[in-house]
Amino acid sequence: MAPVQCFTEQLERCGGLPCFSAFNLIDFQTSVIFFGEKTDQFGYRVIQTKSNGNSWLVVSAPLAGNRTGSLFQCSYDTQRCQPIVLKNAKVVPRISLGLSLAADEASESKIMACGPTWERRCGQLDYLNGICYILNGFDANVKEIQPAFQECVFGVDAVILYDDSGSIVDSDLHIMKNFFLNLMDSVADADVQFAAVQYSSLYSVVFDFATYNNTREKIKDIIHNFKRFKGQTFTPSAIVYVVDKVFTTNRGMRPHSKKLLIVLTDGISNDRSTTFEQATEAANKKGITRYAIGVGENFLTAQDELRRIASSNENVFSVKSFDALEQLQKQLKDKIFNIEGLNS
Ligand SMILES: [Mg+2]
Repeated sequence: MAPVQCFTEQLERCGGLPCFSAFNLIDFQTSVIFFGEKTDQFGYRVIQTKSNGNSWLVVSAPLAGNRTGSLFQCSYDTQRCQPIVLKNAKVVPRISLGLSLAADEASESKIMACGPTWERRCGQLDYLNGICYILNGFDANVKEIQPAFQECVFGVDAVILYDDSGSIVDSDLHIMKNFFLNLMDSVADADVQFAAVQYSSLYSVVFDFATYNNTREKIKDIIHNFKRFKGQTFTPSAIVYVVDKVFTTNRGMRPHSKKLLIVLTDGISNDRSTTFEQATEAANKKGITRYAIGVGENFLTAQDELRRIASSNENVFSVKSFDALEQLQKQLKDKIFNIEGLNS
């Protein structure tokens, strides 16, 4: 039996009092030294465990293999270390396995090793997650513990759906289009892309997300020169059209963006083919947040329809006239900035 040594220095730290908790029990006479790669940070964490009746050291080298990390089982008897193979587990690259390492004192054979530098890219940002592995003896299958990743969502894809019914005179439509152009300009520096759809009894894409991104300088001409329909007001059908035909990747929508629909109308819908319930159900399925803007005297008192379009009452706006739309500029801009994740 090797002698247990107590160091004078430690006794002094305890002020001469017995300090059992501070004692290191170190066997100098039969010590075993294990060597590993310095660049791999071999020895960053060391724990003692038991397997098949033998005592082992488990040593981590978190920078091994281009920061994937490795674990070693080291034998006191052979004085050698060998890599631990994580059976039936997929080791994720560059996780720095072994930056943390713990033993289950109750079972003596169970250990947990974690790699906390699992990089995930989301838009322009990199996120770090961790993954842990539980080993119960070196020969048994390894259990993985993975995080439930938060959904990667970035950027805003917004569709402007504007009313082109016959009740709107050309000059008011012009004001409305300028209102939307100014709104687009006001969030130009944020990660927001737009599409526009014109509707009445008919509906048509004025420009989609791809056009907005590729030829942004032409958007003003495109929207102002778009042919008028001047029909009735089929708002729910137009919403379903936008959900099905415009919020699509072939129109330039990004799969992981936050989706926004801004509906502007001057009158109550007389759509008989589609209900607002059908329209909002379709939009909800794609996770589309909706804003409703009512223009004209109707909407100052009758806001029910706007509430049926919008995702929430806070997303309902109404103004007395097209000239008054400008008042909404900052509110809408702030809403978009908040959704996009930036402060206005
Ligand atoms: Mg109308």
